[in-house]
Formats: sequence, structure tokens, C-alpha cells
Amino acid sequence: MEPVLASFKKRTHTCGELRPVNIGMRITLNGWVDSRRDLGGLIFIYVRDRYGKTQVVFNPQTSPEAHDRARELRSEYVISVTGVVTSRPEGTVNASIPSGGIDVAADELTVLNRAETPPFPIDESVEANEDLRLRYRFLDLRRPVLQRNLLLRHRVYQITHRYFDENDFIEIETPVLMRSTPEGARDYLVPSRIHHGKFYALPQSPQTYKQILMVSGFDRYVQIVKCFRDEDIRADRQPEFTQIDLEMSFVDELDVQRVAEGLLARIFKELLGVELELPLPRLTYMQAMEWYGSDKPDLRVGLKFTSVSEVVRDSGFRLFAETVRDGGVVAGFTVPGAASMSRSQLESLVDYAKSLGAGGLVDFKCTEKAVGSPVAQCLGAERLEKTASTMNAHPGDLGVLVADSWQKAYTALGNLRLEVARRLHLFDEGATRALWVTEFPMFEYSAQEARHVAMHHPFTSPLPEDTPLLESDPGKVRARAYDLVLNGTEIAGGSIRIHDGTLQRAVFRVLGIGEEEAVRKFGFLLNAFRFGAPPHGGVAFGFDRLVMLLAGMKSIRDVIAFPKTANASSLMDDAPSTVDEIQLRELHIRVV
Ligand code: ASP
Repeated sequence: MEPVLASFKKRTHTCGELRPVNIGMRITLNGWVDSRRDLGGLIFIYVRDRYGKTQVVFNPQTSPEAHDRARELRSEYVISVTGVVTSRPEGTVNASIPSGGIDVAADELTVLNRAETPPFPIDESVEANEDLRLRYRFLDLRRPVLQRNLLLRHRVYQITHRYFDENDFIEIETPVLMRSTPEGARDYLVPSRIHHGKFYALPQSPQTYKQILMVSGFDRYVQIVKCFRDEDIRADRQPEFTQIDLEMSFVDELDVQRVAEGLLARIFKELLGVELELPLPRLTYMQAMEWYGSDKPDLRVGLKFTSVSEVVRDSGFRLFAETVRDGGVVAGFTVPGAASMSRSQLESLVDYAKSLGAGGLVDFKCTEKAVGSPVAQCLGAERLEKTASTMNAHPGDLGVLVADSWQKAYTALGNLRLEVARRLHLFDEGATRALWVTEFPMFEYSAQEARHVAMHHPFTSPLPEDTPLLESDPGKVRARAYDLVLNGTEIAGGSIRIHDGTLQRAVFRVLGIGEEEAVRKFGFLLNAFRFGAPPHGGVAFGFDRLVMLLAGMKSIRDVIAFPKTANASSLMDDAPSTVDEIQLRELHIRVV
């Protein structure tokens, strides 16, 4: 193609702006050719920019020259077009776009740049596979849906900045090149050229810095910040992602939660017009597990569990009796009106439960006359009735029971609950159900590492009444940690921190981090704690996920301008890439 060296008239309006009140005005639009229809005599094009699109008509009678040029136009050509706004003839109004009531009768056209045929159409929805779209992300980003998503993202930034400013928070930037403090995920490392053999790490979160800012007296810190975690990417994670990160001094859990839920409510109100009722409900981890089988329960589903361990403890049904005797639980939930489920539907549920590794799944159905179940005989009619009444089951209802160890039974029930809700459409679809889950266990035991690991992170404080258990029974210690859950998705997590060096060392000990290692890895933090650390705590929102939920998208890639694929590469610019030998040499690195 020969180069286009056109000068152009700058736009008087955007492509989303013109309305019938503009009829009669002479205007200029700049933008991309969205589509073109050549009806022999008349040529119609839509010209598009990020504000919308407008139909332009080229009539050979109005301007033969412009009409001639319009015949050359193709999709995605960049143009400047001038003409008069006219009303659309009866019956041709396009009600699906805001500027659909008018046309522009063009008399001047300048092609500012040509474009090759795009590999997929720039439409609201495209069939093209995602790899192709990511390779041509600059075109993908022209699609209205992605433009709307990034605009929404921008608005969430603005609300967030405003909200925290109003609440006396200070935005402070923390370093991107920091010391490696591996705990949790794997660090991304950056080799130092000056310090032979040494590395910086990219922050997994600004956790230690924000705590040190509290020691420095900043009192209320916030930052919208990039974090980096070198994990094998599961379905919807990104190696770099954004958090709204905050920390506060002289506070307890409720203070931090109040600030965080206030932000959520503000965002929902301003962007979606949805009022969240505050304070949000709170469940302890134990309640969340024993009622809903999840530490991020989706409260849009009403189903709730009941334990019947006491009812079936000494029954003749061995599975139940032995499970309870061995310290496990028998628990389940009632599905109102679901007794009409067929055997084969139930069997497919049993298979599903088995695929989750649930020990035993037993169902019962209530009719006007009796409670029926495949295990009625072993359990005995009386116990079966008692089980049903304990679970508040009425005629027409279906009961589902699982018998297993505490963790397995409730986890399986949690998955079953959601599966039943999906199959029977029991989600309250339009609802927004947010809650706090609190008092998480402090540690989980990692069989792989043969030691306890922090469930949240090693700076989280235990509940004061549980600290005596740190030595004797760490598995039982509850943390002052909390998660904010929205419709079954965790959108924020935080904790009240340890601000006392002695307690911090005791927690390190449980984690198998000895004195010497603690000083080596976290000496700077322990050091700061020796000089008057205030009680403090904070929380961080997963920004991408929050925007995804607000935008009603299924993938966080749809709310990130330049996301990475599931294997952590960027297809558009082909990162990661090999580098020049000389760069490696300077960094004292050899690839083996
Ligand atoms: N830094 C924590 C995280 O990234 C959040 C917090 O405790 O504030 O999960």
C-alpha cells in the first residue's frame, strides 16, 4: 500500500454524540469504518470511536468526489468525514444505538489510514478463539464490550481513590523491586547486575511494607497496586494482578471490615445503583463450613446443612454409626419440593458426590404418609423420621446426607449444594449477597512439606484466647483473619496483624521458621517492631475479580487490557522471550 499522507479536519463531535437536536448542523467525525453497505447509488457506512457509532451516507448527487472515495473504504480504515446531520427517513431509525435517530449526509471524506482486513470482526461478540484475539489484542480492545469493561475499571479506580481520600487514607507507593520473602506463592525474581549473584523479587503483595508504614505512623495507607505470583495458573488467575491494598493502625477487625464494606457498597451504588445493606452479615469459618460447606459460601442459594450425627449415632446402619463413632459427621440438607426427582437423577447426583470423594451419600424422600429411603431398613423407620424432622423436611421434600470425616463431609456437601442448585435452578439470580467469613484457622498442615503453613500469611494474629494453643495444638488456633465473599467468590482478604516481636517469633516457630531464618528473611520487620509498632490490621481486594463481577464477565482476562494466557505468556508481544547473550552476561547468568 502507498503511504497515506492526508491532513484532516479535526472532529467537532464524537461518534456517539449526535442526536436529532443536531439536525441541520455541519459536523466532522473522526474514527474507524465499522461497516459499509454499497447500495449502488448510495453508500452507507458506520463510523466508530470509543463513544459509539454514527451512520454516514454518501450520495453521488451531494458530492461525487466524496462518494467516489467512499467506494474505496474497507473495515477499520481510519477516516475523517464532514457533512450535515439529517433526520433518518421513516422506518430506518436504529433504536439499538443512541445516535440511531440521525444520519450524516457526507460531502467531504479523508482517508487517514488504511487497514488490512482484520482477522476477526470488531463486533460486540466474536466467535474467534481467544488465542487469536489475544494475539491481536489491539483489535480485540476496539470491541465495544472490552471498551466498556475498561471504562468500568477506570470508574472503579476513581471511586476507590475518592472514597479513601474522604476517609483520611494516604496513597503511598511501595517498591516493585524488593527482597525475596518466599512464603505462600513462588516469587518472580529479577537478577541484579550490580550485585553479582543477588536477586530482587517482585512483590507478591506489599504486605511487609504496609505494616512498616504503620510503624512509621501513617495510620491509614491505601494503594491500588500490582502484585506478582509465579504460580501454575489455575483457570482464572494471572501472574500479575491488581489489588486495592489497605492498612490501618489502632483498629480491630470490625474497623477494617467497616471501611472495606463501605467501599464495596459505594461501588455498587455508584456503578450499578444497587444498595448493599450494611453492616454485612458475618459468619465464622466454622459456621460457613457447617452450614454451607464452603469458606466462600454463595448465599444466593438458600440450602443450609443440619448435622444428624446425634440422631444416627447408635443406629443399625453401620456406615452412619461407625462414621460418628470414629469422630466423623453425618450431615445433610433438605431440598424443598424435590421429592419428585427420579431415581436416575438421584443416581447421577450420587455419582457426582462420589467423584468428589464423598464417603457415602444417602437420600430420603418425604411423602404425606412416610419417609422413604434406600437405607430405611438399616436405619429404622423411627430414626429416619427423626432424621427428616431434625432436617426440617416436609412432605414433598428430598433429603441428602453425607457421612465422612468433618472436612470431607462438609466439603462434599458444599459442592453438592451448589450442584443441586445448578441442576434445579435454585440461585436467586438477580441478588447480590456479600458477607464476611471470619476466624479462619491460623494454620493448615502441609503433608507435602511435613509442617504447618500459614493459612493467610505469617503476620496474621491469632485470636488472643487461642494463643496458649500455639505450642500444644496449633491446628486448633483461630486467626484474626477475614475474607469478604460476594456471591460465592472471595473478593478480599485480610487480618489483624501481630505487632509484638515475641508473638511473631512464636508463630514463626510453629511454621518451622527458626530464629536465624526469621532474622535472615524478616529481620527488617522484626527490627521495626522493636521501635513501637502500633496494633494494626488491613485487607486487600482482588481488583480484577471485583471488576469482572461488576461487569458481569466470566473471565478476568476480559477486564484486563493486556492479560496473559493460562501458561503465563503474552501472545501479542510474545513475552517471555529469550534475551541477548550480552544481557545475560551483564547479569552473570547462564542458561543451562
Ligand atoms: N497481603 C494480603 C494478601 O495479599 C492481604 C492482607 O492481609 O492485607 O492476601
